[in-house]
Amino acid sequence: MSDQLVFEPSAEAKARTWVTEEQYEAMYARSVNDPEGFWAEQAKRIDWIKPPTKIKNTSFEFPNVSIKWFEDGVLNISANCIDRHLPQRASQVALIWEGDTPGTQDHITYQRLYDEVNRFANVLKAQGVKKGDRVTIYLPMIPAAAYAVLACARIGAVHSVIFAGFSPDSISGRINDCESKIVITADEGRRGGKTIALKKAVDEALQKSPGVDKVVVVKNTGADVPMAGGRDVWYADEAAKVPALCEPEPMNAEDPLFILYTSGSTGKPKGVLHTTGGYIVWVSMTHQLTFDYRDGDIYWCTADIGWVTGHSYIVYGPLANGATSLMFEGVPSYPDASRFWQVVEKHKVNIFYTAPTAIRALMGAGPEWADKYEMPSLRLLGSVGEPINPEAWMWYYKHVGKERCGVVDTWWQTETGGFMITPLPGAIPTKPGSATKPFFGVQPVVLSPEGRLQEQTKAEGVLCIKDSWPGQMRSVYGDHERFMSTYFQQYQGYYFSGDGCRRDEDGYYWITGRVDDVLNVSGHRIGTAEVESALVAHPKVAEAAVVGYPHDIKGQGIYCYVTLMTGTTGDDALKTELRNWVRKEIGPIASPDLIQFAPGLPKTRSGKIMRRILRKVAEDDFGSLGDTSTLADPSVVEDLIEHRQNRG
Ligand code: ATP
Ligand code: MG
Repeated sequence: MSDQLVFEPSAEAKARTWVTEEQYEAMYARSVNDPEGFWAEQAKRIDWIKPPTKIKNTSFEFPNVSIKWFEDGVLNISANCIDRHLPQRASQVALIWEGDTPGTQDHITYQRLYDEVNRFANVLKAQGVKKGDRVTIYLPMIPAAAYAVLACARIGAVHSVIFAGFSPDSISGRINDCESKIVITADEGRRGGKTIALKKAVDEALQKSPGVDKVVVVKNTGADVPMAGGRDVWYADEAAKVPALCEPEPMNAEDPLFILYTSGSTGKPKGVLHTTGGYIVWVSMTHQLTFDYRDGDIYWCTADIGWVTGHSYIVYGPLANGATSLMFEGVPSYPDASRFWQVVEKHKVNIFYTAPTAIRALMGAGPEWADKYEMPSLRLLGSVGEPINPEAWMWYYKHVGKERCGVVDTWWQTETGGFMITPLPGAIPTKPGSATKPFFGVQPVVLSPEGRLQEQTKAEGVLCIKDSWPGQMRSVYGDHERFMSTYFQQYQGYYFSGDGCRRDEDGYYWITGRVDDVLNVSGHRIGTAEVESALVAHPKVAEAAVVGYPHDIKGQGIYCYVTLMTGTTGDDALKTELRNWVRKEIGPIASPDLIQFAPGLPKTRSGKIMRRILRKVAEDDFGSLGDTSTLADPSVVEDLIEHRQNRG
């Protein structure tokens, strides 16, 4: 794959940028050489009730890992996201809501956001919620979801948002893990023209979560749902009874803000714990600089609030910056594959942030859907969630960005709170498929799988981070041992990301996939992302997932699941063609052993390919597929099993 294709920032991007290329180098050097001074200054972007005098107090030393930022500072995040903007922005739109059904929308000003969040906070208080209590939120993508998280932040309660699509078992598991006594939900949600019975799922979950004694139900579709006396209350009824204003609770910088269970691509979800001061500094700064956000911009992140991307880059980061953030209830394919582009034109979106899974799906549907829309408002595109294949990057750049908009590929994790490796649009030239360079304060290192530090610029191996950054998770909720053993034990002195990467001669980072997914074929290490990108580069392939399986001669063989473009049929001739194609793109060593055409791939509900399951099918060992509770569409798996290629 060509590392040589380089896109310089446009003259326009250079002219408006917060950080120029020269400033990036100087600021980066300062951020790692003088973190105390650098972050003391950056902390000023936040309104503190008591500004911090202690900046950084962190240790990655196993088994005494401890991470504290701004530890004597006092602040409230909801006041930072709302109250402080009121003097200048009361009538500015904070949230644009676009409903699942075309034609449904809402525009919520900062004044209205203030009113709604104050009232919501008082409802929670009236239900007995106190500072430090955990509140489970199981809401669809409606404005109440944003009000609910900000209301928790206002009173110092710790929210745990669960994607409104998870099964009752997943809900109760998460409720019990953090011992929350209250759940906020809605009667039903809407997605892709269908309704989702949320209250019903909660009722079922609570049979296994006896600790919950309150359920607050937001009326959304108006469906008739049973209400358990003494336990369930309608939000609107309670809201009518409480005072309009709620003073924001003074919070210590290291008080917990939220727990979020990771998406579960690799195993049992972990309760990632984030705290207050460092997190808000990190998400507001990364949002402003990476998206080059300026007053008046309309910004749209298509993630769900149930994922960290929704937390950091729909709610907290943008609102801390006084931005206008668009919240979308629906899916890219409903009513048809042009929905995203219609919404972009309708709301004059300037910055658009989505995931490779959506881009590849829209690619598979054909370019004509995007080509019909000029989208003159668009200025910048972003990607997150998986490695973006260079082919998908180019498609996005051409058909959505019209070769005019920059693309920022942001590498980060639930654990990191916000962006870690990402271009800054006016400062860092981009290469399709590379997340490029570290953000300020982030020190990536590449280790060999055995743990040897790769000091030369050009290197390949395991991606670790050398020192703490303010947005870092502080612990696994209730299990600091698991936190330390997961992230700090294997490569001592470093944070272990779990991802593999390649660093090229220009110091650019290319994420090659999860370390656990790296293939070892005849002694050669091959990243799954590389083979997938080669396959996706073939004009007939929309999406691909590659895993290894035991192979008598090579040790591991390469098993490829391939989803074809709409209207293409898979046959043996195409398999041969694809084999030759990969040989040509990467080399004979990466030649696929088995190819299975698959109409759909198993994905987590956040849209990531679940290779764990694909590996089992490839190994012809699908008796125990492990935890499949985070799978979006379990029926996909049956088809894969039926058409598996390795029958031993
Ligand atoms: P779990 O940790 O439960 O297995 P998960 O890792 O999918 O789930 P997230 O925190 O949502 O949960 O995802 C972070 C991971 O997503 C990263 O470790 C990386 O593998 C992948 N990822 C995210 N953004 C990018 C990107 N821009 N390029 C490459 N990979 C990315
Ligand atoms: Mg992960």
